[in-house]
Amino acid sequence: MTLISTNTPTAELQALDAAHHMHPFTHNAELGEKGVRIITRADGVWLNDSDGNRILDAMAGLWCVNIGYGRKELVDAAARQMQELPFYNTFFQTSHVPAIALAARLAELAPGDLNHVFFAGSGSEANDTNLRMVRAYWQEKGQPNKNVIISRWNAYHGSSVGSGSLGGMKGMHAQGGMPIPDIHHIEQPHWWAEGGDMSPEDFGLARAQELEKAILELGADRVAAFIAEPVQGAGGVIIPPATYWPEIQRICDEYNILLIADEVICGFGRTGNWFGSQTMGIKPHIMTIAKGLSSGYLPIGGSIVCDEVAEVIGNTEFNHGYTYSGHPVACAVALENLRLLDEEGIVTRVREDTGPYLKEKFEGLTSHPLVGEAKIVGMMGSIALTPDKASRAKFEADEGTVGFICRERCFANNLIMRHVGDRMIISPPLVISKPEIDMLIERAWKSLDECHAALKEKGLMKARSAA
Ligand SMILES: *Cc1c(COP(=O)(O)O)cnc(C)c1O
Repeated sequence: MTLISTNTPTAELQALDAAHHMHPFTHNAELGEKGVRIITRADGVWLNDSDGNRILDAMAGLWCVNIGYGRKELVDAAARQMQELPFYNTFFQTSHVPAIALAARLAELAPGDLNHVFFAGSGSEANDTNLRMVRAYWQEKGQPNKNVIISRWNAYHGSSVGSGSLGGMKGMHAQGGMPIPDIHHIEQPHWWAEGGDMSPEDFGLARAQELEKAILELGADRVAAFIAEPVQGAGGVIIPPATYWPEIQRICDEYNILLIADEVICGFGRTGNWFGSQTMGIKPHIMTIAKGLSSGYLPIGGSIVCDEVAEVIGNTEFNHGYTYSGHPVACAVALENLRLLDEEGIVTRVREDTGPYLKEKFEGLTSHPLVGEAKIVGMMGSIALTPDKASRAKFEADEGTVGFICRERCFANNLIMRHVGDRMIISPPLVISKPEIDMLIERAWKSLDECHAALKEKGLMKARSAA
């Protein structure tokens, strides 16, 4: 047996990874050629890799390490719970303290009458639960044909067959029989890329009214729910125009459609409030949660459900659940994470102090020649790279070519920023300090400069001609 540790040379680890490890959302053959980057430890907002680099993680892992790395309190909570009760299920008329305590705490934190929690192991699983729950709800109410769920193109709701169908990622749909039947997609409120000559306000309204159009076409007696992220995350951190959400809310109310807010990224302080629904002023019937719930220290997700839906579902046997629904160790860690976020005032600090500080610096990036817009809410932001700001032009090169070059420059400068097409996105740990924000912006600026120079050298600063 090969003995592998953090002392194993990087090249050897890379070879073993290439030989045996299949990565998600990755062209594995290409990665194998290039060699994967190996992260060995982390603290606060900083990652260490196997080559000894110290990297500023402006993505909080995968949007999830809200509390930052290396919190011993979470380690201790896990160890305590593992010794006391490492596992028990919640299926057969049993429960346990961590699941009870976490459900009660979430009911306290969640707005309005969102008082009931169905646990899952991840965001994907939770959205599968939602898909089944809203259909079961309307069936139980005597309207079994009210089973269509409306979502949006370029939404991300997870990677299982159900949640991937709810999502609007065409690349995912293209690889295997998705979306499943009775999921309908409308266009996204992405003004920068799709708003044309309209003002953001008019465009926001128009995109919201696509929901009404879809409901009228399908028939209100056919539509069960609308699902959306308060702010699209994986789609490129797309903050909708201010007119969008109020109109969506009006339409859901008017046509008696359940509203599911996918809070997997927006939840737990990311937008400066406990939930993105509060920031956007919406009143969902169900919220999907995961990621920041445990700050990623252990996998856990769930659905927070309003009184009425929970009551209707409670009147029947809902034939659904996961072995790890309410896993005691994951619940104990999530509970401890929520305690720290609260007691250390981290959510408030994002809203009132570090968030506004980051916003000012981040929006300053628009004075860079490559940056068309820089938008941020709380601690999730994105910038649009463009060869021509005035016309909001796309690059002539295939979408993502320039974003990828920019991301490589960030990597080289020990900054983790992701690209979605030619948008660069950030979502740092919520504990990031002001000096660390300065370093983030400094490195972003340097990477943009290097990217700009590379584009000029390669002749890539060309705008695509308007079709
Ligand atoms: C990440 C994500 C999911 C899926 O969560 P997993 O834990 O990866 O299954 C669902 N919705 C949104 C908005 C996400 O960002």
